[in-house]
Amino acid sequence: MSQRNKYKYCPICATKLKTKMIEGRKRKQCLKCCWINYLNPVPATASLLKEKDKVLVVTRGIEPCKDMLALPGGYMELGETPEDSAQRELYEETGIEGKVERLIGVYSQKSSQYGSVLVLGYLVRKTGGSLRPGSDVSAVEYMKPDIEKIAFESHRKILREETC
Ligand SMILES: [Zn+2]
Repeated sequence: MSQRNKYKYCPICATKLKTKMIEGRKRKQCLKCCWINYLNPVPATASLLKEKDKVLVVTRGIEPCKDMLALPGGYMELGETPEDSAQRELYEETGIEGKVERLIGVYSQKSSQYGSVLVLGYLVRKTGGSLRPGSDVSAVEYMKPDIEKIAFESHRKILREETC
């Protein structure tokens, strides 16, 4: 279960939460301000950027899955479109500027932190920039990755769909 199910007190008004059946599931609710701890997947993006027969991958510098490979990507911020988010994360993690060409697919993935993450995989075209690892990655390079060394199931699916 997600870390977010561990709340004991309402994050709005600090009243102790009660567990109730709401819309067919046990959920924690604040009986004072009516806040309900809905546990929804967190949206994230992943970018596939190809160069000839290689793809742009990062080596993760932080947990989860530190030192494993991943596609550039991360969690969406409020006010962003998914495409904005993919392009921002690509630039932050790799120094490469890109433009989303099309959606590859949408994937549901288990997460120790959030319970479930909804990953939007995009095919991205390079428009500028140069390789520079961001603060949460230890390396960034073009390679033909060994699929087994890719950290996330959704990223493995994106690679299998687009490179095999
Ligand atoms: Zn409350």
